[in-house]
Amino acid sequence: MTRLSRRAFALAAGTAGLSLAAPGVLHAQSTGRLVVIGGGFGGASAARYARIAFPRLDVTLIEPKATFVTCPYGNLLLAGERTLPQITHSYDGLKARGVRVVQDWADGIDATAKTVRLRGGQTVPYDKLILSPGIAIRWNAIEGYNEAAAEALPHAWVPGAGEQTTLLRRQLEALPDGGVVGFAIPPNPFRCPPGPYERISMVASYLKKHKPRAKIIALDAKDAFSKQGLFQDAWNELYPGMIEWVPLNKDGRVTKVDAREKVFETELGTRHKVDVGNVIPPQSAAKIAIDAGLTNETGWVPVNPLTFESVRARDIHVFGDANIGQVMPKSGYIANSTSKVAVAAAAAALEGRPAPGPTVYFNTCYSHVGDEYGISVVGVFRPTETGFAETPNSGGVSPRGPLAQQREQRRLEALYADAWYASITKDAFS
Ligand SMILES: Cc1cc2nc3c(=O)[nH]c(=O)nc-3n(C[C@H](O)[C@H](O)[C@H](O)COP(=O)(O)OP(=O)(O)OC[C@H]3O[C@@H](n4cnc5c(N)ncnc54)[C@H](O)[C@@H]3O)c2cc1C
Repeated sequence: MTRLSRRAFALAAGTAGLSLAAPGVLHAQSTGRLVVIGGGFGGASAARYARIAFPRLDVTLIEPKATFVTCPYGNLLLAGERTLPQITHSYDGLKARGVRVVQDWADGIDATAKTVRLRGGQTVPYDKLILSPGIAIRWNAIEGYNEAAAEALPHAWVPGAGEQTTLLRRQLEALPDGGVVGFAIPPNPFRCPPGPYERISMVASYLKKHKPRAKIIALDAKDAFSKQGLFQDAWNELYPGMIEWVPLNKDGRVTKVDAREKVFETELGTRHKVDVGNVIPPQSAAKIAIDAGLTNETGWVPVNPLTFESVRARDIHVFGDANIGQVMPKSGYIANSTSKVAVAAAAAALEGRPAPGPTVYFNTCYSHVGDEYGISVVGVFRPTETGFAETPNSGGVSPRGPLAQQREQRRLEALYADAWYASITKDAFS
């Protein structure tokens, strides 16, 4: 294992010339080395914000992929309303800001020596580590659902290079009219509470246009879900008779799948044959967080709610989907919002200042439900002694009511959703 000097590391990462384009990158009076693991919504936002707000920090981002495909708007790809290039973002903007981007996996963290071991063999030292690696799928939590089964019954729930979402789209295109699309939806907590229901809506929108006799069965491990009334109103109005939602109390929890026969089996043994199946499995924090001993019995990472520092290891700040988050949704918006607090706290500690406060975290989750039809849920959260709490009398959901009365509201929210996507991806990746 090689321990690289800062100059050797810059050369290894192919960024030695970067100091010409971005003079701050190897600042002589650096206040510390901030290393970020994970270039998704949380990690990219953290690296970008660190360069803007704390220019004397050396910032390194470790991410194995050359570009990032967003889960948000992946459901629109299923509906044929977005293409893969439209939801793919490069790290060129971050590099231009002076972030040292290392394309590799972080394979291990030594919290005592304060180093990150890369799959390529190098060791990267840090003063503060920012960890936003997202989720891992709990393979076989549903019997029969392993990595091989995902090739037949895609989850399309982690970004990758977009291959899983593209596979699901191809399967929908090949679905015979009159065929059945099945969804297996996990219990809480999971990434993106309204995500499965936006996906059902976008698939229904596609089927209504191209295979109007097809049906959707959504088998859910819960009895209630985010924006439920709004989604169900829309399904009744836009896709009457097409969608059957089966909650937990009606035997909705899928416990077993047969990937070859495309059968979903529920707790009480009911077998549902589908033509296309989307299994969204139970999840945990990503492997690197588990391997580093940062997770607890829930499978997620507990943190100090004021600073996002791990309660299990000093100088490691964890946010985004990997942390417990409690009442805060596992969303790109929250990953972005909390990244700024974590970076500010890490920078303050390096400079010997107290963490800034009071802190507040914002979230809006928009969902596209049909053509020119958007809905949203808003939440404002604050830290408490033990975690996070939703601020009373803040936030809420879009108004309910028949489309005839709400058409303009729905049209505007679809536009706001598009504007949100444009602005948040800019705030993370530009
Ligand atoms: C279908 C769908 C729709 C969604 N829609 C919305 C939406 O409309 N609005 C919203 O706010 N959120 C939405 N989300 C949720 C959003 O995608 C996540 O909450 C967000 O991506 C979490 O950010 P993160 O930084 O924690 O993880 P991610 O964005 O997943 O980023 C994690 C990154 O870490 C990298 N990584 C993992 N392990 C390592 C390692 N060992 N070494 C180096 N790198 C590593 C990964 O390659 C990845 O790039 C949606 C999710 C889905 C699935």
